Parts: sequence; C-alpha cells; structure tokens
Amino acid sequence: HMVTVRYADGKGWYEPRVEARGPIPMDPASAVLHYAQEIFEGLKAYTTPDGGVAMFRPDANANRFNQSAARMAMPALPVETFLQSLHEIIKIDRQWIPEDPEGSLYLRPFAYASEVFLGVRPANEYLYLVIASPVGPYFSGGVKPVSIWVTPDFTRAAPGGTGAAKCGGNYAAGLSAQAEASEHGCDQVVYLDAVERKYIDELGGMNVFLVLDDGSLITPPLTGTILPGITRDSVIKLAERAGRKVEERPISLEEWRSGAASGRVREAFACGTAAVITPIGTIKSEGGDFTVADGGSGEVTMAIRKELVDIQRGRAEDPFGWVHKVL
Ligand code: PMP
Repeated sequence: HMVTVRYADGKGWYEPRVEARGPIPMDPASAVLHYAQEIFEGLKAYTTPDGGVAMFRPDANANRFNQSAARMAMPALPVETFLQSLHEIIKIDRQWIPEDPEGSLYLRPFAYASEVFLGVRPANEYLYLVIASPVGPYFSGGVKPVSIWVTPDFTRAAPGGTGAAKCGGNYAAGLSAQAEASEHGCDQVVYLDAVERKYIDELGGMNVFLVLDDGSLITPPLTGTILPGITRDSVIKLAERAGRKVEERPISLEEWRSGAASGRVREAFACGTAAVITPIGTIKSEGGDFTVADGGSGEVTMAIRKELVDIQRGRAEDPFGWVHKVL
C-alpha cells in the first residue's frame, strides 16, 4: 500500500489517504524532476517477543525529516502526521513483516515538490508518501566486517551544503563514489571532508566510530557535512550511560591509520539503520591499505551492538523509552 498526504501553500497538509500502491501521476514539469526538491527517511518496523509490532525512535526520524525539509526550503510536516502515516502503513501492510525475528518491514517516508512550473524557486505544492518493503536480516550467517574505500576523487558535502539533510540529491552524487569503492573491491565508500581532504566524514550510508585503547569512543562531529544518524546518537547515549567517554571531534585518516599501527585505535565500526552496527574490516586508500587490529569484530563493538539490538527487539530494558509500540 501507500500513504499519501498533499500540501499546498495557504492550505497546509490535507487529504491523507491510504491506498493500493501504484503509479503516481506526474506532469513532466513537476518541480522535483528538474530541481530535485526531495527528502526522505528510512526506518524499520518489526515484531517484538510479545507478538506486537514496534519501531525504533520514529520521533527522531520525524524531527530529522523536518530538518531536511527546512534545508530544502520545504514545509515542515507535523510530527503527529508523520507518526500516524507510519502507523497506517504498518497496520495495512502488517502481513509483510517477515516471520524471521531479525527481519523487518522497511518504511520509506518521503516528500517531493509536485507543483508544475519551470522557474527556480521553492514549490508551493508537495506530496508526502510512505511505502514499505520487507527486508531480511542485514547479515545472514553472523556479523561480517565491511571493507571501505577512502575516495580520493569525490566529496559528499561541503560546509553550507546539504550534507546534514537526507535529500535524494546527496545519494545521486554518491553513486559514482560507491561505484569506485566497488571497483576497489570494497563494500562502502568513506568520504573525507571537502575542505582539507583530511578528516573522516562518514560512509555512503553509515556513521563512523573508533574505539581507543582507553575504552573511549570518538566519532566525527555534527558540523553540517554529515548526516546526524539516529543510530549514531543512540550509540553515544548508550556508551555514556555505561560510563564510557565519547568525544565528538574531527578524526583524520592519518590518526586512524597511525592509531591502528600503534594500537591506540583498538576497534572501528560503522552504524546506521540498515546494519545497526557493523565492524569495519579493511580500510583501503590511495595511501595504502590497513586494518584496525585483525580487522575482525571487536569486543566493544559487538557489546554495543548487542545492547542496542536487544533494546530494539524488546529483549532488554529500554532505558531511554526508544521503542515505540505500534500494535
Ligand atoms: N549517513 C548516511 C549518509 C546515511 O544515509 C545513513 C542512513 N540513514 C546514516 C548515516 C545513518 O543514519 P541512521 O542511523 O539514522 O540510519
């Protein structure tokens, strides 16, 4: 199915509908086709041990959606409307939630400029939609470290750009970089900052953490060029609650490389909705390849992963009230 809600200036959001999923009529002069005014979110619904259905921190997705909207000169969607649209799609598509306790129903809320005109200005009409798609476990047969390629050719976002927004254009611009990573035999691309080409920003679809030898965590700061990941935020809160020091600060590729050689950097992991947390194995770059420790699944990484997954799946206490029951 799909949920749709329309927007027009002066009218606000109107006409919420749940209908069979199918083609949406689109005029060739629809603004989004020309100027890419489009934003989206991604989150999962899954069954809990009591047979119910839950989502993880959907309010955080709603807030990020509205931050993306503000950056793309689009109207904010009431958080209530966002949450209700997710409830509606889950209710009607519940049969698509996989039986597998590690599987889930991936939810994709998005909005685009639907107004028909060819001038360059923010549109006055938008369409918000939600579609859903079942996904199996990200890792079948155990967690496997990802290999990453440090792209020398591409940047993801410059200061003042759209790096902190979840807009389609960011991902269009990343496709060549991802292809480059694949050519080098890597699973994911890692971007360096656009100004000095020195500091780690993030992966194509995940944020990065390093675990240091004193047990503390470091992760690149939210300076507007990386996506403020909800998993990233959750990792920080869980680690701090467990008494771990977490520093949000610039991390250069050289600090990573030399720290891996000296043992100062003990583990590296990436995090995002899809994989939750995955160890980073080999780091390939023009300056040479390296691994952190043996490139395997680090102890701290796997402990944080278990803690987070157990909270999400309702197998552990939820100290922050993150799990949002739907059914
Ligand atoms: N960075 C990018 C570029 C992403 O696409 C994602 C996935 N949404 C993330 C980080 C991780 O964000 P989250 O934890 O909210 O999924």
